[in-house]
Amino acid sequence: MKKPLILVTNDDGIAAPGLRALVEVARAFGEVVVVAPDSPQSAQGHAITIAEPLRLNKVEVFEDFDAWECSGTPVDCVKLARHVVLKDRVPDLCLSGINHGSNASINILYSGTLSAAMEASLEGIPSVGFSLLDYGWDADFTAARHYAARIVEWVLAHGLDGCKLLNVNVPKLPLSQIKGLRVCRQAEGRWVEDFMEARDPRGEPYYWLTGRFECNDDGEDTDVGALMRGYVSVVPSGHDLTVHAAIPALKAMEKSIVHTPANQ
Ligand code: MN
Repeated sequence: MKKPLILVTNDDGIAAPGLRALVEVARAFGEVVVVAPDSPQSAQGHAITIAEPLRLNKVEVFEDFDAWECSGTPVDCVKLARHVVLKDRVPDLCLSGINHGSNASINILYSGTLSAAMEASLEGIPSVGFSLLDYGWDADFTAARHYAARIVEWVLAHGLDGCKLLNVNVPKLPLSQIKGLRVCRQAEGRWVEDFMEARDPRGEPYYWLTGRFECNDDGEDTDVGALMRGYVSVVPSGHDLTVHAAIPALKAMEKSIVHTPANQ
């Protein structure tokens, strides 16, 4: 049987320990190609680079398979992987991460990790974004690696019918203390921003974004709730942000806001 082709990327950059952990998982299942940013690109969301050139360099980071570093965003990496590095070969699976830090709840909107997975899924490639709830560069990826392997095995065997990608988050716990895995919905939440203001050496003000994540939607059916209770959370995700249930009631707008010719 032909080995699956697995594209691995991330947003923390090619040097991140989380990428190495995910590569270790992927290599057990197929032929691995890595295309990752040459510098940290967290919170780039679905940004793409269109006003400046992109650089793509082959790097000898991993011993026995090809890796490229790219000067752009995580989504740039996936686009370059697809159209330049792999040319006519379509990956069977795209894995992104393992991110250093949570991408649960609405963090999927800001996350470069999940946007990379989403970009691959827009191309019809089953994709999974993995994140560990530990921002440390020295984070222990043992549990995340274990669950990532089981999830990759499952997705390769079953595909991803009914959704485009999976958003997987792993609690910051030793493997022995993780209770299992929960398939859940994305919790509602928000970042409460706090801009620190300071002065640069020329006396001009500058601002540094800080904040805290606020979430009251932490029932057992949510990713935040599952993580709090010691489970790995798996959220089936997609690209369609339409709130379909709101369409019938909002149809009243069609009759209320009538067409007026521009010259009247
Ligand atoms: Mn990151």
